[in-house]
Amino acid sequence: MNKINANELWTKSLSKIESENKFSDFILDTFIKKLVAVSVTNGIFNFYIETKNNRDFIMNKHYDYILSSIKELESSITALNITTDINNIATTTDNLQQGLLNNTKLDLGLARKNANLKEHYLFENFVKGDCNDFAFNISMSIAKDPGNMETNPLFFYGGVGLGKTHLMQAIGNYTIMTDVSKRVYYTSFENFFTEFIDALASKESKQFRDKYKSLNLLLIDDIQFIANKEKVQHEIFTLFEDLKLADVQIVFTSDRPPREIENLSDRLESRFSTCLVDIRKPDYETRLAIIKTKSNNKGIVLSDEIVYFLADSIDTNVRDLENAFNLLVYFMKINNLKAEQMDLSSAKDVLKNHIASDKKKAITAELVQETVAEYFDIEVESLSNKSRSAKIVYPRQLAIYLLRKNTEQTFKEIGKNFNKDHSTVISSIKKIEADVKNKMEVRLDISNIENKLKGK
Ligand code: ADP
Ligand code: MG
Repeated sequence: MNKINANELWTKSLSKIESENKFSDFILDTFIKKLVAVSVTNGIFNFYIETKNNRDFIMNKHYDYILSSIKELESSITALNITTDINNIATTTDNLQQGLLNNTKLDLGLARKNANLKEHYLFENFVKGDCNDFAFNISMSIAKDPGNMETNPLFFYGGVGLGKTHLMQAIGNYTIMTDVSKRVYYTSFENFFTEFIDALASKESKQFRDKYKSLNLLLIDDIQFIANKEKVQHEIFTLFEDLKLADVQIVFTSDRPPREIENLSDRLESRFSTCLVDIRKPDYETRLAIIKTKSNNKGIVLSDEIVYFLADSIDTNVRDLENAFNLLVYFMKINNLKAEQMDLSSAKDVLKNHIASDKKKAITAELVQETVAEYFDIEVESLSNKSRSAKIVYPRQLAIYLLRKNTEQTFKEIGKNFNKDHSTVISSIKKIEADVKNKMEVRLDISNIENKLKGK
């Protein structure tokens, strides 16, 4: 028997159902057309639909009618199976792999759901600038030609809100949009890790491995949380090696480069460093371009002075910029203002708190050193001399840590301010990072000093 093309059969059934006028447009659009044809197996027509409510509504009220409409076109259909469960679909899609050979078209929306991707994270929506140009180009080249030795895995790093997740998902979206049968999976490292540990515990490692090995593209977000998980790093390393051998393109993101992830095994560090790409904070031109793009997309023409004001005052990251812009749009909406009625002083007013809390006061090495010295009641000079006394060592480590946390300075630059080398800087930061985890008094010192720094 010829394999039934689920999509085609459903399209035909739908036009028949529409022509019979049994349903109002509302019911058709809200429920019936939300059914996504997945496959036909052994006379059962499998559908996916987004919510349980939708499913129940159709099952309870319209099951018979829909089934009989389909039956009139294809008599071998005996039942409908409607699921809202992505996992269920994920296994159905295994059958579908087979079905695909028979031209069963997997719906793009469904593929996106299976892949765990958001629709709007696209290359088209990503504004390029000096800060992310390289990252953008390499993402595009990997999307077009995945699995090369030199670019697998790809590892993005950079601060929060700079577009790492966006770019990584853009690779995924591009992949399924150009070939919907491609198997893509996006996951946070934390989810991945939970799944990984569960699989180990329940002796289902093989299934876990097989699932990942069957992918074309694996996107693991925020891998920095692998820090300090020494016990399982060996297993994770082996898994990634297997995936690479199975031609799975992997992309990682992290808020810091591999060498700064605490207690990362050498092998993982070197694996992660295969293709390292940083994303930096947007410069002024890129910030301008981002605001202009966002306002064009929304069809809002902000006055130049407001655009310049935004680009000038919100320099932390793209997410903050986006939030400020959205806040302005929201303000205009609730006050029924057109963009041309919005003037600079009301824009400043709306964003007052936003900017005050987000815009970090320029924090310099001198400011940090002075503040720390004052807080501990020691001489500023002692922070950069050779003293090893406990009274000085802790404040010095803390000052180094705070400088790293609150500025963009490199280890080398930080070291210069304290007359110390790069390795002293790293060990000081690690020491304080460890203390932050277990010592309440250290957390308190940090928060007190940071308040002073910001208030000064
Ligand atoms: P990260 O993962 O680095 O913390 P995200 O990818 O979540 O950052 O980005 C934060 C927000 O800023 C998202 O809404 C994203 O779409 C947007 N964004 C980031 N970079 C850009 C860019 N270059 N162009 C357009 N939007 C961007
Ligand atoms: Mg992210």
